[in-house]
This record gives sequence, structure tokens and C-alpha cells, in this order.
Amino acid sequence: MRSTGMVRPVDKMGRVVIPKEIRKALEIENNRDCFEIYTEGNRVILKKYQPSCIFCDSVGESVSYGGYTVCLDCIDKMTKAKEDFIEEFGEMVGLK
Ligand SMILES: [Zn+2]
Repeated sequence: MRSTGMVRPVDKMGRVVIPKEIRKALEIENNRDCFEIYTEGNRVILKKYQPSCIFCDSVGESVSYGGYTVCLDCIDKMTKAKEDFIEEFGEMVGLK
């Protein structure tokens, strides 16, 4: 962990402003980005929130479905699995 040398107060609402230089360096955009909040001992750690795929944990291109994030690769794999299932068992279960 590296110190930036910057100190910011906590206001009466409990808010802390992340210095502009840090927001710019980490490509944090106001009114868009969110943070996950962790604690470690007496430290508060903020991690830029990037929704990840519920299956493979990647943060690549994804879609949100039913409140879950699924990446396009996993959608392709599920589509292939469905096609394989229908190919093998489709007639048996009335899908073919
Ligand atoms: Zn995935």
C-alpha cells in the first residue's frame, strides 16, 4: 500500500472526497462509478466496483439478467450446452 500524502476530512454526513488526482488516475467518474468497501484492521479499503460474471468472475463484456451479470463467453457456452442437450436428448424430452 502506497501513501499519497493526501489527507481529507470526514464531513458531518460521513462523506470523504476522493481527491481529483486519484479519481483521474483511476478513471473514476463522478455519478457513474461505485465502490466496494472492505475493512482490514483499522483500514477502510475502497475498490472500484466492476460487476463480474457469476460463473467465471470475469469483468469483460457482459449482460445483466434477473439481477445477475453474465459474460458473453459464458452465454456462448450455455447456448452451446443447450444445443448439445437438444441434439442428444431433444427427441426424448419433446424439444426436437
Ligand atoms: Zn463468464
